[in-house]
Amino acid sequence: MFKTENISTVAAWLHHAQHIVAFTGAGISTPSGIPDFRSSDSGMWATVDPMTVASIYGFRHNPQAFYDWVRPLIQLTHDAKSNPAHLALSKLEQINKLDAVITQNIDMLHTRAGNKTVYELHGHMREATCINCFHIHDGMVILEKFLEDGKVPHCVKCNGIIKPNVILFGEQLPIVELQNAKKVARNSDLMLVIGSSLEVAPASDIPVIAKQSGAKIVIVNLEPTTLDSMADIVIYGDAAEILPAIVQSLEQLT
Ligand code: NAD
Repeated sequence: MFKTENISTVAAWLHHAQHIVAFTGAGISTPSGIPDFRSSDSGMWATVDPMTVASIYGFRHNPQAFYDWVRPLIQLTHDAKSNPAHLALSKLEQINKLDAVITQNIDMLHTRAGNKTVYELHGHMREATCINCFHIHDGMVILEKFLEDGKVPHCVKCNGIIKPNVILFGEQLPIVELQNAKKVARNSDLMLVIGSSLEVAPASDIPVIAKQSGAKIVIVNLEPTTLDSMADIVIYGDAAEILPAIVQSLEQLT
């Protein structure tokens, strides 16, 4: 159980802060039923070599293997609903206490929760692109068809292979999203770092940029992360319990 004095301290920091940013990873979505990659009981990495199936080279070489591997994640993402942690961040934005969410997640649950300013560093499933002619398709239509027939989707224009707009190993992060994320991180005076192992660079540089620019760092995670030593507070526990508790405590101050 997390310490309630830590909740009150973070609520007081939120109360006084001018530019708050949330940085989120797969752990914020585990309470919605979507497994993360690195928790010991997750298993998504356990049965495959990620560099084989989840890299752009692997995708080009054997797209069927990628689609077979990612199928459970596509199904879970399709069915998932935002959980109390996502909704707490949406509430913070509504009361002008959150400038932006920077997320590594591809599940779109922040936008489904109602957040308007969301930088999706690793892409999303709303769109999918032909790797031959670069025609952009509606991701949901493409993925729903794939969930039905299990076949690698092909482009209606050129019959090329379609890839969801998620960033695979070996691909560049979307430059505009990354620049915007760095800008809000530099401008922040408080960053909430939620449910990320902080092991995936360059996304994991974002909390470091915020810290170097003078922001307080609050880490919320079930387990220790690689950046705990630079945090001002680390709260160990379930984000779906901790974030609503922080927002409730903040509301008592306003
Ligand atoms: P990660 O899997 O490396 O780490 C998840 C972290 O969340 C772990 O440190 C774990 O202890 C913590 N965690 C798990 N459940 C939690 C909870 N309920 N409350 C608080 N903390 C919790 O995730 P990452 O750092 O985001 O990196 C994984 C990469 O995989 C990212 O690039 C991301 O794009 C991708 N991914 C995305 C999704 C998604 O979109 N939901 C799911 C799996 C993987």
